[in-house]
Amino acid sequence: MVFTNKSWRSGRIDSNCLSPKGEFWNRLEQALDLSKSTLDKRKSVYAVGYKLKYERGNIFLNRRRFLTTCCGESQSKTELLEEPMISRRTSEISPFIVMDVLEKAQEMERAGEDVIHLEVGEPDFDTPLCIKEACDRAIKDGKTHYTHSLGLFELREAICEYYFTKYDVTVSPDQVIVTSGTSPALFLIFSAMLEKGDEVIISDPHYACYPNFISILDGVPVSVNVYEEEGFQYTSQAIEEKIGAGTKAIMINSPSNPTGNLLDKERITEIASIGLPVISDEIYHGLVYEDSEHSILEFTDNAFVLNGFSKQFAMTGWRLGYLIAPEEYIRPMQKVQQNLFISANSFVQWGGVAALREAEADVIRMREMFNKRRKFMIQRLREMGLGIAVEPTGAFYVLGNIKKYPTSSYEMAFDILKRAKVGVAPGIDFGKNCEGYLRFSYANSLENIEKGLLRIENYLKEL
Ligand code: PMP
Repeated sequence: MVFTNKSWRSGRIDSNCLSPKGEFWNRLEQALDLSKSTLDKRKSVYAVGYKLKYERGNIFLNRRRFLTTCCGESQSKTELLEEPMISRRTSEISPFIVMDVLEKAQEMERAGEDVIHLEVGEPDFDTPLCIKEACDRAIKDGKTHYTHSLGLFELREAICEYYFTKYDVTVSPDQVIVTSGTSPALFLIFSAMLEKGDEVIISDPHYACYPNFISILDGVPVSVNVYEEEGFQYTSQAIEEKIGAGTKAIMINSPSNPTGNLLDKERITEIASIGLPVISDEIYHGLVYEDSEHSILEFTDNAFVLNGFSKQFAMTGWRLGYLIAPEEYIRPMQKVQQNLFISANSFVQWGGVAALREAEADVIRMREMFNKRRKFMIQRLREMGLGIAVEPTGAFYVLGNIKKYPTSSYEMAFDILKRAKVGVAPGIDFGKNCEGYLRFSYANSLENIEKGLLRIENYLKEL
């Protein structure tokens, strides 16, 4: 019998089973669920994707990406397969389509084409000088070693100071973990929170990567549709309809990627009062042009905050972010950080201290420029007939409605790239409910936005 023993499988074989047509072959195929078509019998392949070892009448198979051919009872030749065997966890992850558009656009640029980027969610501004200088100093002063796994104490203190000054909330440095970008912070939170099958409520549209972070940690993303006419805002009633025994948390992201809209104070109050932990992605705070943003910590302590330096400080490539969490979660997440990441980059963290303490004037300057671009983009998209029901007032995105065109957002985005030479993000990247939209980023110069939108306008006229 062939049976499973952790990653090894073993089966007793008789010498007359060694032919690919023999009994052993059939048993192996059944047990491993290998389809005949994947195997090349002419080469006497015994197992694809399994390392096969023959020992005292037993076949041992290791679930690794090897191709094993048997040349006799006790001889086998093992070579690495070109086609690797990929785990279900990884093969089921969907691509981040915006990155696919960007990479295709870069390929076109390498071939000499002039492409305008309205797809990518990163400020075109250079990182403020005071931040670069602080990082320079840190390198010169030899601050080039591991830091505490929770992050530099000075940075954690600066984060607490920042939250106190900006939102009037008191956070202890012991509640903060500094990470290499906000993305690893998402991973830490979900890894500490989720058991297999636990649910997390997210809006749809949502940031493209949320469902994948949840699924890769065996959780289940549960979407609540939000609608254009309502400024893509969650209602607590719609959230409550999706809450079940397995719901672990509600996720909010205000200002939101991809909608650019903010959640009203009243809506955040209602969501906080549901009583489940709220995970609040505050990465676009600081990029709000009307009204003002609120931290979830103003409303409840039963909350996890995600934040980072990529957006408001134009530091995407620095990879620096952080989370704030209830103290009892810190040690478990710290252990994950120690094992998986050790610590965030040391000198980059010194840049982070300068960002929070010295870069306010730069942030104001960038925000003013973003705001001019926002107004221009909204006006132009409306002129082009890509209707915007409620004006987005934060982040640097506008969703344009393309439902009147008989094509999918995916096809249209790649067609615009090919024919109009403008990168835009297809709505489908941000959830099923975002199909029928394109996301336009105004993290590019006014001149480029103007040129890019003109190209798209001409493209649409030809449809
Ligand atoms: N959250 C949101 C909503 C985002 O848009 C992004 C980046 N696009 C991230 C998290 C991750 O940002 P980073 O890892 O660069 O800090």
